[in-house]
Amino acid sequence: MEQENFALGGVPGTDGEVSSRGSIPLRTRRTDVGRELSLGERAATVRPVVSATPALLASVAVGRPVRGEFTYLVPEALAGNLAPGQRVLVPFGRGMALGFYLGPANAPVEGGVRLKPIQRVLEDSPSLPKDLIALLRFAAEHYRHPLGEVIRGALPPGLSTAVDEKAAKADVQHFAEAVVTEVPPQLNRAPAQAAALQYLLAVGGRAQLEEVAHAIPGARETLKKLAARGMVRLVEVVLEPGVREGLIQGRPDRLTSEQDVAVRELQGAVDAGGFQPYLLHGVTGSGKTEVYLRAVEHALSQGKGSLVLVPEIALTPQLVGRFRSRFGGDVAVLHSGLKDRERLFHWQALRKGTVKIAVGVRSAVFAPVENLGLIVVDEEHDPSFKQDEKLRYQARDLAVVRGKQAGAVVVLGSATPALETLQNARAGRYKLLELKSRVDDRPMPTISLVDLRVERPREGQVTEEAPILSPQMLQAMEETVAKGQQVILFLNRRGHSTILLCEVCGLSLKCHDCDVCMTHHQSQNRVVCHYCGVAFPVPNSCRECTGPLLKLGIGTERVEAEVSERLPGARVARLDRDSATSAERLTELLASFARREIDVLVGTQMVAKGHDFPGVTLVCVVMADTSLAIPDFRASERTFHLLTQVAGRAGRGKDPGRVLVQTYNPDAEPVKRMLAHDFDGFAKQELEWRKALAYPPFARMAAVRLEGEHPEQTAGVARFLGNLVGRHMPPASAGVRLLGPALAPIARIRGKTRWQLLLKAPTHAALAPLLARLEAALADVPSGVRVVIDVDPGAMM
Ligand code: ADP
Ligand code: ZN
Repeated sequence: MEQENFALGGVPGTDGEVSSRGSIPLRTRRTDVGRELSLGERAATVRPVVSATPALLASVAVGRPVRGEFTYLVPEALAGNLAPGQRVLVPFGRGMALGFYLGPANAPVEGGVRLKPIQRVLEDSPSLPKDLIALLRFAAEHYRHPLGEVIRGALPPGLSTAVDEKAAKADVQHFAEAVVTEVPPQLNRAPAQAAALQYLLAVGGRAQLEEVAHAIPGARETLKKLAARGMVRLVEVVLEPGVREGLIQGRPDRLTSEQDVAVRELQGAVDAGGFQPYLLHGVTGSGKTEVYLRAVEHALSQGKGSLVLVPEIALTPQLVGRFRSRFGGDVAVLHSGLKDRERLFHWQALRKGTVKIAVGVRSAVFAPVENLGLIVVDEEHDPSFKQDEKLRYQARDLAVVRGKQAGAVVVLGSATPALETLQNARAGRYKLLELKSRVDDRPMPTISLVDLRVERPREGQVTEEAPILSPQMLQAMEETVAKGQQVILFLNRRGHSTILLCEVCGLSLKCHDCDVCMTHHQSQNRVVCHYCGVAFPVPNSCRECTGPLLKLGIGTERVEAEVSERLPGARVARLDRDSATSAERLTELLASFARREIDVLVGTQMVAKGHDFPGVTLVCVVMADTSLAIPDFRASERTFHLLTQVAGRAGRGKDPGRVLVQTYNPDAEPVKRMLAHDFDGFAKQELEWRKALAYPPFARMAAVRLEGEHPEQTAGVARFLGNLVGRHMPPASAGVRLLGPALAPIARIRGKTRWQLLLKAPTHAALAPLLARLEAALADVPSGVRVVIDVDPGAMM
């Protein structure tokens, strides 16, 4: 139990040996080669052919969707030349497949299976370091995903297929340098060129091509024209590890006393070596990033590598910028937008240890950092660390497991730690580091409440036209903009109106294929389903009774329109998935807000991320209630996190900040506690509730999700799986519980009926045997129903 809640339970050994993890041996872990086994099938028994000594047998994960590790013969020529983590070519089924040599194997238990030899090795030095093999094995086992697929998924293109390794071309960066010092008059009639040159001059005469193209779409071509005119020089720079740009820039001379305590502690832990997890709980604006930077700096000075995980790079480019400017070519930035060549280059550089720092999104938890000394997870509470497809892993949890395997210091940082993490700190499993005040003694923002029940009553007639911005909010916005300061308006719903309701029959317009309401997007003049993406023109009247439709439920588009109307002088922009259609557009929006070309930024949770905009002194929460009623045991926690995070964007510069929160539920726990800056009070209350109802962090969960074409068939499979679990339930004393089977909260998406079963248990170990049973039974599920097992599920929908 103690160990269990620690992170994800037991951690496999790092010695490349396969222990008998998992709880019931439904199938042998090592299976014979040459046939793909159906789940639950035992290794076939063929006449004994080979009597090799154990040293000549290899355990290999095959990069195919098959479970388990496979045993192969090591041919004479390769004996002694194989290293764990090496990519190999192996016969599999009727053809050849990519394999990963994991270590020596014992002779198959069942005896007498015909083994095939490894064909050849595909690389000189292993692509996978030892600690990573252990992590990948753990992930496959814990999240119940085929190991070969897990490994292949972690590797960059170029290594994830059965081809020989090639070295990636060096990482080059393209810069544009202004040759002139001002925009010459002959550019008067070439506004695009003038703008690009203006940009270059504004940022000091030199910038990466990529950056200029982000800021000014089409700038790549424009800069070429400028180069042809001799006004700009284009240079190619090979990024050399060890070269640092602008080391001095942005590095504060003095740490706050709280930062200092945290940094010293982390430096000491890095020096001591060995696994030590920390929770860095620092209020918004307390300078957590500087603590990470100093810890990474220290690890680097000791020759140790660091891994830094962030929720979304595109949303917080400043953070990456700070790592880049501090560590230059020593840092590899890993995100989904990388080209194949870049991903391969970074992998190889990290693997060789020429680049020692990796900064990246959740998948970077698998980055092959050499001599790993430090792992940082920034905004560790962020839901984006959970992957919701294929390998359904939680990168924050895996970061802790990896730290344990690599013997590294792990720092989980947040202003609003996840209750799982907080509980680990309270139980003494993580050491707690606190930053209770903001940098430079800047005050926390003042937060006040606007009661929408009074300001915008819902009773009586339906209020389609009622303004959503209360007089208090409008006045605060006017004052702020008048002072030349900036405003963030937060509402976590996209579109113009989120419900189209028939005035006569009361039916709302729903998607044909999904069990959700269509959202009206005025900018596209369409109604859109946010789940399947289907869109069609706005109907004039109700589909059922032809009654007139009321547009209710407010989204960001409507808020933006209302702000523009009520504050005609203000420059207003919107940040949500509809407006930030590409990474370039997103960067441009954020950069333009940072340059103070926008006064009021309206947006969804995208505005609540770790942004540091010193000009923002007012944050308005348009409606705090949107995420309260979601049928998820974390709804309250998510609401509290979002509200606290968005409030934390106010007053980060020299001017103090204020926050206005409009709500219909002023007595709701997360709203009340957020208003009082009371994280501890919220956590205490919420933890008590979780404990009483046996939810994480006091229980481990797994969700079994079903999706099927035919409602009857899907329901049938759900009942079948429910019965199966019922039959194999351990005695009540084990505390395992089954919730469901039940229709999922969103019962239909893309025309498919959705069911789910939820399993709860005091420990993951108590859950594992049931999951193995379920997994084995999946072989019998008809192909029309898709079933996935989601261990430690994130969202409950
Ligand atoms: P957090 O991540 O805790 O919200 P940040 O790391 O973004 O906070 O820091 C907030 C701001 O304070 C940033 O602009 C950062 O550059 C600045 N800052 C951090 N540490 C110091 C320091 N010791 N002295 C001066 N400014 C600092
Ligand atoms: Zn739909």
